[in-house]
Formats: sequence, structure tokens, C-alpha cells
Amino acid sequence: MSKKKYPKLPDLGARTDEITIFAGPCSVESEEQFDEVAKTCSKLGLHWVRGGAFKPRTNPHSFQGLGEEGLKIMHAGGKKYGLKTLTEVMDSEHISLVQRYCDGIQVGARNFQNFSLLKNIGIATSKTGTMVLFKRGFAGTIAEWLAATEDITQCGNDNVVLCERGLRTFETATRFTLDISAVPVIHKQSLFPICIDVSHPAGQRDLVPSLAKAAVAAGADSLMIEVHPDPASALSDGAQQLTPAQFETLVGELRELAAVFGKKIV
Ligand code: PEP
Ligand code: MN
Repeated sequence: MSKKKYPKLPDLGARTDEITIFAGPCSVESEEQFDEVAKTCSKLGLHWVRGGAFKPRTNPHSFQGLGEEGLKIMHAGGKKYGLKTLTEVMDSEHISLVQRYCDGIQVGARNFQNFSLLKNIGIATSKTGTMVLFKRGFAGTIAEWLAATEDITQCGNDNVVLCERGLRTFETATRFTLDISAVPVIHKQSLFPICIDVSHPAGQRDLVPSLAKAAVAAGADSLMIEVHPDPASALSDGAQQLTPAQFETLVGELRELAAVFGKKIV
């Protein structure tokens, strides 16, 4: 384990009294779709909106994302509502393209040990200090996760947020098994903030509120929640996405819970 001390992070004040929510659609599908979600985030006083433009799909026949067109939609929506934008980079050749349009870079679970991608992101963001949200692989240990994080930080960018998004276990009642203990373990073993993606482990929208409350209660620094104006028509992950109205209700409940710990949701 590295003993290196990381600085306080500019984008997601690590271990502060703020819990940052990254909400937005699984995939960016159209201007109208993204606009509605971004409008909801801004109305709730959040700072970020997320969306996928390059999608890692298990089946190559599934929707692959709008690519640059999706990035443009995100950029315009973020600008319109004064929100920072977060999107996944799957390939080193897209890093500079994504940096042109978005404020934060997500590394997905499937690229958890794509060391050349991690290093290239570290190099490309070393001057800008762009926030990198680094997801744990669904079969990755915490030690492997922290080791892989150094592939980014050693290249010069310490602005990394770790994101737990569920593990593959024998359990099939949920899509993945959320490792809530990653929160205290990461807090104990590192100085990085930890985000809990509550949508991908749930796989079903009715489970999302409980996981989100558990994450806040456990001390998570951030949450990721997928939101879609019409989940039934979503081109990816429809079953787990909340409607804007459901999301608003949940954020209200999370605010009350966060206040118990002297924290606020942003
Ligand atoms: C996502 O955030 O949309 C995503 C694909 O997540 P993961 O890499 O955790 O599967
Ligand atoms: Mn998704």
C-alpha cells in the first residue's frame, strides 16, 4: 500500500461535509432526453450530471452510444444548466476528444485493469487535474483497485474518485453484489473519496433507494445514480434507471439522512 499522502481534491472535496451525486442517464440518447435529466439535477442544486457516450456493452449488437454526438449533447446540457459533466472513456484514442467536451472522466468496471488506458488517462490529465472516477472491476479486490489507481496517480493526477459498483458473486437476486464495506475500507486504507454506484448493483429501480441510503449511512463521499425521463424506452439499463420524479423524492430523503451526519448533498 502506498503511504503517499494525496492532496485535498478540488472537484470532490475529499472527506468534507459534501456528498456529491453523479446522476444522469446510462446512455445519452438525444438532446431532449439529456436536457430533462440535467434540468432535474440543476433544480436539485447538484453540481454534476453524468451520461454515457461510449458504451461498454456485453453484446456487440446492443446500442453502443452516440459517440462524439453524445459528448456534444452533454457539453451543451452541462453549459445550459451550469453543471459539470462526467462520461466514460473506453479507449485511449478518445481521451482528448472527451476532454474537449466533458469535465470528468469515468473508467468503467471492464477497464479496471487496462493499465495502458489508466496510464494514458493519468498522462493526459496530469496538467489539467481532471477528475477521474475509477470504477472497481466486478472481480477486483480492493488491493488490486488501489494498486491500479497508482497507474493514474503516478502519471501526475491525484484527482481520483474511487467508485464501487458491485461485484459478481453467486447471488443472482441482484445484478451485482454491492460491497458496502468498501466505504470504510477505502477510508481506512487511502485518502481517496469513494463513490457508490447504486444503480448497477441493484439492476432494478425499486432497490436503488435502499442502496443509496446504505451508502450515505456508511459514509460514502459520493453516489452515482442512473436517471432517465422514460426508463421503459431506454436504450441501455432501463430496468434500473429512476424517473426524474423518483430521483427527486430520493434526493429529498437522502438530504434528511445526510443531515444526521452533518453533511449536505450536492
Ligand atoms: C456505467 O456507469 O454506465 C457503466 C457502464 O458502469 P460499469 O462500468 O460499472 O458497468
Ligand atoms: Mn448503465
